[in-house]
Amino acid sequence: MENKDAQIPVLVVDDEEDIREACTRILTRMGCKVSAAPTGNDALSLMEEEPFSIVLLDLKMPGLDGMEVLRIIQERNKNVLIIVITGYATVETAIEAMKQGAYDFIPKPFEPAQLRIVVGRALEKQRLQAEAELSESLRQRTLLDLGKEKSRIRTIIEALPNGVVVLNAQGKAVLLNPAFRLLAGLPPETGPGGPISAYLQDEGVLSLATRIYSGEFPAGTDIPPYEFALPGERFLMVRGRPVLGPEGSCLGAVLVLTDVTSLKVLDRLKDEFVAKVSHELRSPLATIHEQLAMVMADTVSQVPEKDQNVLSRVKEKTQGLISLIGDLLDLSRIESGAIAQKPSEVKLDELLSAIVDFMGAQAKAKGQSLSLAIQGEGARFRIMADPMVLESIFGNLVTNAINYTQQGGEITVSLSLDGGEIKVAVADNGFGMERKHLDRIFEKFYRVKTEQTRHITGTGLGLSIVKGLVESLKGRISVGSAPGKGSVFTVWLPLSQEKNAAGKKLSQK
Ligand code: ADP
Repeated sequence: MENKDAQIPVLVVDDEEDIREACTRILTRMGCKVSAAPTGNDALSLMEEEPFSIVLLDLKMPGLDGMEVLRIIQERNKNVLIIVITGYATVETAIEAMKQGAYDFIPKPFEPAQLRIVVGRALEKQRLQAEAELSESLRQRTLLDLGKEKSRIRTIIEALPNGVVVLNAQGKAVLLNPAFRLLAGLPPETGPGGPISAYLQDEGVLSLATRIYSGEFPAGTDIPPYEFALPGERFLMVRGRPVLGPEGSCLGAVLVLTDVTSLKVLDRLKDEFVAKVSHELRSPLATIHEQLAMVMADTVSQVPEKDQNVLSRVKEKTQGLISLIGDLLDLSRIESGAIAQKPSEVKLDELLSAIVDFMGAQAKAKGQSLSLAIQGEGARFRIMADPMVLESIFGNLVTNAINYTQQGGEITVSLSLDGGEIKVAVADNGFGMERKHLDRIFEKFYRVKTEQTRHITGTGLGLSIVKGLVESLKGRISVGSAPGKGSVFTVWLPLSQEKNAAGKKLSQK
């Protein structure tokens, strides 16, 4: 405070030397930087050389009249606070001076305390004014910074290699960057303003975008990415998030597009490689397996039991390898679309009934009950699909239910209609799984290892095959599960009469 006031320059203008000296002494002690002038002219020329914040001005001086000096100072700088010094006889002049814009007045003769009070008030006013100016300039700065920040963010979005499009709550694009235009194959002059369908035509993208901007996903929801194909063997991945307002309301959506064509090509090369290696391994392995079986049969009486056990384990392992290779080949055929489906009209209730009968023996061996529950009449469950594909889907699910359920457990297959779709649920009261595994069990080779499942052999490919097949029939699959309670795998298949394209390429994961 002291320091701030110390910087305030004050000018005392009075023809009486005593007054000038007294004022200088008192004001210097108050921390002001004081200058003094005996006449109006001296004062004006001093003011031309340096700035003053406060001027103490005697109105009655020889030479240039005090009122005239006041007018000139006012004219030059409105911010200078002028305190007029005046004798009793000239109170009216003082009032006139105040009307002219003087800040305050002090009658002559005055006590030091009076001077301190009047100047103190002026100093306070100057300080407040300086503070107001400072905060105004800070406000201006912040606005300027904000403006700069906005344009900086815009520049960054423009330069991003990923396509970005921002939609408002009505689904209209409010911002799109050049990478978005490029990836979506739009002309460079394409601007925002249209609905998302004006820029991207894939149905999956449109439904994802609509669900996001209409606020279907609450804050923090993990929205899975979606992949789709564009003409010319190009693959894009889109990730979307809602744009949330301060109170969590949904203001729109932001979609980010990434070109994943090279990853897809790599994936395909990897799949081709796996398919090739599997194919090459299959015949020699089958030969080893057969010959081992022959050797074992021929020598059963001559080989000691210990060695027979070793041979049995070798046979088990080769059998495991053969089924792994079988699964890999199935999977690569499904993924490449090479699997030729022969759709025919299938009565799903009869097909499931046959599976349940066939697998009943396996369940019985574990003391489990395996039953089929059909809601509605059988005639309604006819669909066009390759029966081998349906057998593979539900056979796999029932086998898993038997494998991952304890002795004496219960397995139920239920069949019903759900809107325009057929719904098949395979439920068990077995080991179940923790939530964190549920999104991943459809990935290739993903297996859940727990104390109960450690000894169960498997390849981790069954559910990838099931998912691939379900999707090839334009259906979908989901899982619900809880550890110790059991699991339910639900498959929805379209009831439509149209034939599902055989060997359709799967462009989506
Ligand atoms: P595999 O059975 O050969 O391991 P899958 O792809 O069929 O491969 O299954 C992947 C994993 O999902 C299994 O290893 C198992 O941990 C889990 N799983 C599948 N079905 C069930 C089920 N009905 N109950 C509990 N866990 C299951």
